[in-house]
Amino acid sequence: MMFIKKIGIDLGTANTLVYIPKKGVVVNEPSVVAISIEDNRILAVGNDAKKMIGKTPDTIVASRPLKDGVIADYRVTQAMLSYFVNKAGGKFRIFRPEVLVSVPAGITSTERRAVIEAAIQTGAKAAYIAKQPVLAAIGAGIPINSPVGNMIVDIGGGTTDVAIISLGGIVAWASVRVAGDKLDRAIADYIKKKHNLAIGERTAEEIKIQIGSAIPNPERGSMKIKGRDLIEGLPKTIEITNKEVVDAISGELKEIIRAIKSVLQVTPPELAADVMDRGIFLSGGGAMLANIDDLISQATGVPCYIANEPLLCVAKGTGIILENLDVYKRSIMSKK
Ligand code: ADP
Ligand code: MG
Repeated sequence: MMFIKKIGIDLGTANTLVYIPKKGVVVNEPSVVAISIEDNRILAVGNDAKKMIGKTPDTIVASRPLKDGVIADYRVTQAMLSYFVNKAGGKFRIFRPEVLVSVPAGITSTERRAVIEAAIQTGAKAAYIAKQPVLAAIGAGIPINSPVGNMIVDIGGGTTDVAIISLGGIVAWASVRVAGDKLDRAIADYIKKKHNLAIGERTAEEIKIQIGSAIPNPERGSMKIKGRDLIEGLPKTIEITNKEVVDAISGELKEIIRAIKSVLQVTPPELAADVMDRGIFLSGGGAMLANIDDLISQATGVPCYIANEPLLCVAKGTGIILENLDVYKRSIMSKK
């Protein structure tokens, strides 16, 4: 029986994935922690905690500790890491592994050390961290160690991260708190204003995924949705069209475009020329919004490509680094 010796963790704002080289994604659950307010105890993590959102009594809060792209609470982050490593350990025989964790690009050196420490606490023999845009680029198949500028835009749940990467390092970047969650909220707000209908987060996300697009696309059709009429106070069904969803989210999408342009504007000219030639690569769940590539290329004048399996790029990136640690030593920080 072989022991698993390497695990990668994509600690996302919405979803956490555990990746084992040659096995692939072995755990994929929401980055949610349920905490009891009275004694600050952690009650549940992942799927079980997500089920509690919107349904918890006042004494329990279900929180997404990373939702703004910063690690606000180390105790909770540590608990999440332990939970996910244990979960992977329930499926495979893992012993004193090397663990690589993705971190936000803007993390401070103190925060980095804290995450590495938290990873060691899970029983790791060695712990490494790598910046999320670098991992996304590697997972998207971009040769990041070449002396060529590449732009990766990762649209997640809480944040959109834009980065120019060359020679294994980040040359210019921006992170904005506008991504999938804000699109969902914009859809809910629009339906509330225009149709006097209250809908939940889940419904808004379903609408976005089923009929949404970044530019009007009649082929995406329309759908019937259920909510609560704000005037009568009673359940009601209405039909919503693709055009309405585009209207609802266009303001938020402009923020994402603005972030991409701001990074292009500070990119050294040689690297900007590379990006013009090679295009912009999209990863993260938000890259699956229909026509987002078309919108970005129209707005920037640069061709835009969606990575294969955009939701898995960061996780795959952890696997590729773990298997080639010497090649990527510039891209990671570690402790043994
Ligand atoms: P993070 O890395 O921040 O945890 P993910 O990359 O897992 O985030 O992406 C989660 C986001 O992707 C959610 O907001 C979700 O609604 C969105 N998403 C997933 N699938 C689609 C889709 N088909 N169309 C549009 N958005 C999607
Ligand atoms: Mg992510």
